[in-house]
Amino acid sequence: MGKITIAIDGYSSTGKSTIAKQLAKSLGYIYIDSGAMYRAVTLYALTNGLIEGQIHNKQAIAKSLSKISLKFTYNDTLGYSEMYLNGTNVEQEIRSLEVSKYVSRIAEIKEVREMLVGMQREMGQGGGVVMDGRDIGTVVFPNAELKVFMTASPEKRAYRRYKELLNRGEQVTYEQVLKNVQSRDRIDSSREFSPLRKAEGAITFDNSDMGLQEQFERLHNYVMRVLESKKGAQ
Ligand code: C5P
Repeated sequence: MGKITIAIDGYSSTGKSTIAKQLAKSLGYIYIDSGAMYRAVTLYALTNGLIEGQIHNKQAIAKSLSKISLKFTYNDTLGYSEMYLNGTNVEQEIRSLEVSKYVSRIAEIKEVREMLVGMQREMGQGGGVVMDGRDIGTVVFPNAELKVFMTASPEKRAYRRYKELLNRGEQVTYEQVLKNVQSRDRIDSSREFSPLRKAEGAITFDNSDMGLQEQFERLHNYVMRVLESKKGAQ
């Protein structure tokens, strides 16, 4: 059966990556976390003095892109790929609240988006890919056979992310996380280049009151339907 491209977009902390990983595994597809790429560029900017306080130097960041090498490397033990920035595994650092605070500002920069969208298209060109992010169904793969737009209430999303950060040993409060989630939603939805929008033909998927198993089963059913209709059309 031919492999399809699955684009999962949506608001921050809707659990896109958890479900996308599970879906990719069950289908034997590649999972690509596009947010990890924006996070890695942000980490580079933070550690190289390109962000000071609330100010980030857009031009210097755009200029430094040629010095940034991003690579996903599959970790057999974990069962998913980890992000390497210039040869170093940064999977932990890119998930910190510090990186989350700045990432949406860095993701507004046109040159950053152009570089990362180019890489994402290349990685997904053969199909058999589940990619999650904010502009996958609208910009990266507008012809994806299945597009999902994930959403949930900000409070539920913040609570899930808060628990995740606590489990990783970060000292954060629920209020800080809620504020970050709301601020990223606002910046992501209102930016000039590729703002977060529901793509044409995307299925809205509100998982506020859904457990993981139910989410997986529903999405898996959508995939099966697309695959069946493809088979029928052949
Ligand atoms: O998905 P995640 O929350 O890790 O993404 C971090 C940030 O990266 C988002 O808040 C958004 O600003 C940016 N992003 C983006 N386009 C994508 C993926 C992520 O602008 N395709």
